[in-house]
Amino acid sequence: MAKKTIIANWKMNPGTLAEAKKIFGSVKKTAQKLSHVETVVCPPFVYLHELWKGTSGKKCALGAQDIFWERAGGFTGEVSSSMLSDALVQYVIVGHSERRALGETDDIVNKKIHRAVKDGFKTIVCVGEKERDAHARYFLFLEHEIKQSLAKVTRAVLKNIIIAYEPLWAIGKEAKRPATPHEFFEMLIFIRKILTDMFGKKEAFAVPVLYGGSVDHRNAKEFLAVDGSAGLLVGRASLEPKLFQEILFSADLSAR
Ligand code: PEP
Repeated sequence: MAKKTIIANWKMNPGTLAEAKKIFGSVKKTAQKLSHVETVVCPPFVYLHELWKGTSGKKCALGAQDIFWERAGGFTGEVSSSMLSDALVQYVIVGHSERRALGETDDIVNKKIHRAVKDGFKTIVCVGEKERDAHARYFLFLEHEIKQSLAKVTRAVLKNIIIAYEPLWAIGKEAKRPATPHEFFEMLIFIRKILTDMFGKKEAFAVPVLYGGSVDHRNAKEFLAVDGSAGLLVGRASLEPKLFQEILFSADLSAR
């Protein structure tokens, strides 16, 4: 079976480099024991270089939580693709709902995706509806979001795209609840249909689709068991080494 990909999105945590090193050390130790999991840690930018010094081999990859679309210049506060490459970053998260909530539009997300895939990063594109309405308009919302975000992406670079389905109502401290595995399955099929319309069936089925939203050590197994699930994007639980370790072990077992 294909390896599962488990992405740890640390967001703006932890508060010090010392804590970051401690959590990363523990994740790395677990990741080294697993042969069926691609473990990716996405810390805040300022920790990347220091943590890179601690990565060994290919067992635990580093990801960034964002990227800017221009390569250099007068863009105060932004981080370029060459800076990320220099820190040995292999993955980039683009279009996380917390960034979209701060004003990031589909158009901006699209520019960032183009930069990231062009410069060879595995690009995790976050998509998901804000709420579910009785008329199922959220399907249309998702279709629009995916089509806009991936506009003009070519088949040639599609191999660098990973989709993370993260319904907003299931994410973070304010989450109502996690999605159910069935809800994820339904959306996974729908996402494949949209990708098939855009790129063709063979290409669409090669794009990994992850689930994210209130994943923890108790429910991880169920999301990993969903037919076609390529893995998980984990927020809060990824900062708890013991819980995250259980999630990684579940992923390793589910991919055997
Ligand atoms: C996220 O923010 O991407 C996420 C999945 O968060 P959490 O796991 O904390 O819901």
